[in-house]
Amino acid sequence: MNSLDTLFTPGLVAAQQPQWPGGVDGAPVKSAVAQLKSFPPLVFAGECDDLKAKIAEAAAGRAFWLQGGDCAETFAAATADSIRNRIKTILQMAAVLQYYSSLPVVKVGRMAGQFAKPRSNDFETRGDVTLPAYRGDAVNDLEFNEASRTPDPDRMVRVYNTSAATLNLVRAFTQGGFADLRQVHEWNKGFIRDSSVGDRYEQMAREIGRALDFMKSAGVDPDSFKSVDFYSSHEALIMEYEKALTRIDSRTQLPYDVSAHFLWIGERTRQLDGAHIDFAAKVRNPIGVKLGPKSTVDDALALIDRLDPNREPGRLTFITRMGAGKIREALPALVDGVTKSGAQVLWVCDPMHGNTFEAATGYKTRRFDDVMDEVKGFFEVHKSLGTHPGGIHIELTGDDVTECLGGGEQISETDLATRYESACDPRLNHSQSLELAFLVAEMLRDR
Ligand code: PEP
Ligand code: MN
Repeated sequence: MNSLDTLFTPGLVAAQQPQWPGGVDGAPVKSAVAQLKSFPPLVFAGECDDLKAKIAEAAAGRAFWLQGGDCAETFAAATADSIRNRIKTILQMAAVLQYYSSLPVVKVGRMAGQFAKPRSNDFETRGDVTLPAYRGDAVNDLEFNEASRTPDPDRMVRVYNTSAATLNLVRAFTQGGFADLRQVHEWNKGFIRDSSVGDRYEQMAREIGRALDFMKSAGVDPDSFKSVDFYSSHEALIMEYEKALTRIDSRTQLPYDVSAHFLWIGERTRQLDGAHIDFAAKVRNPIGVKLGPKSTVDDALALIDRLDPNREPGRLTFITRMGAGKIREALPALVDGVTKSGAQVLWVCDPMHGNTFEAATGYKTRRFDDVMDEVKGFFEVHKSLGTHPGGIHIELTGDDVTECLGGGEQISETDLATRYESACDPRLNHSQSLELAFLVAEMLRDR
């Protein structure tokens, strides 16, 4: 028996788990888990440690965290075009943030593993038919029929394979010349450039290009411009998957979840006595926890004690998702209480999940203005407390979808139907994402 078999506390309740056919001890789950255990790691422990060091820098106000990607990745959307557009969007946003703030930007995708979703209802009813809710491609299929909605443990194996293929492309794009800062113009190609935000980006790209030419003429051409570190992240939700991909690092002899560099625990699964927090406490990756508007200082302090008892720099990130109307009231006490405890966490703003509503047309949506207002509130609170607004967590896609309202293109409720493709929550499209980056860059510059 290796030490992994006794690492996690047995018998704890795991919220939001699928009703796998045969249960977690049945043959289908056992077979999937056995395969996952035999597969090579998707990420290395050393990379997770590097990310942790960067998070520590961001927590201290010396870097800014940018995390973005789909609410729910799907197997069907793991295409070269879709992956490339997401990476380009994140690289463009990072360039904007970095250019105006002069801070290094830590780039993290909600990507290469973000396939499982917690749901408010276990079931979905359409007309007189009730079926299990869609829980992400890791579990079942979005299509509304009994076969599609029945959880299938083999999907966990497909999650691994799709994550591996996605990461392979991510690594090629970010290490193989495409992410070279000299390509800052190229990242804008292929996107519809109707908008003022596109022009603004081009102007910035020209300025960066001139600065790079100037440096080169002076004999300065650093390798750090030629590739970027890009990290993967997802919500650690399906316990069988995450545990099967937990390995003992040969160098340090410590356990890491090698399914992604950074894992977060969602607002619905962060119970102190639950399986998810036990899991997160045991692995050495940098960990995030989502905090909603009802979170108390005691909740936050208890999470710190469980997840970061040794106060390790970069270990813990709190991702707040309060809602535009609540952040200015709910966040100050939390940040103040945590700061007074002496803990140094990274504070990240998720301005998406507290601002979701259903449009009259039935689509789940968010207003660009609410998203921006929550980020603004986040910066205001940190400024007034003298703490660091460490980063943003955004649901976005590089495609030209119509899922969130407003922005420069003024997407309206009737426009939502034009191109609504999200399998779960609404995402900012390419130009809304860039627009957000410019607005956040201004806040960061003036912080
Ligand atoms: C999510 O990030 O998609 C999510 C479900 O968030 P939360 O846990 O904050 O509701
Ligand atoms: Mn979501």
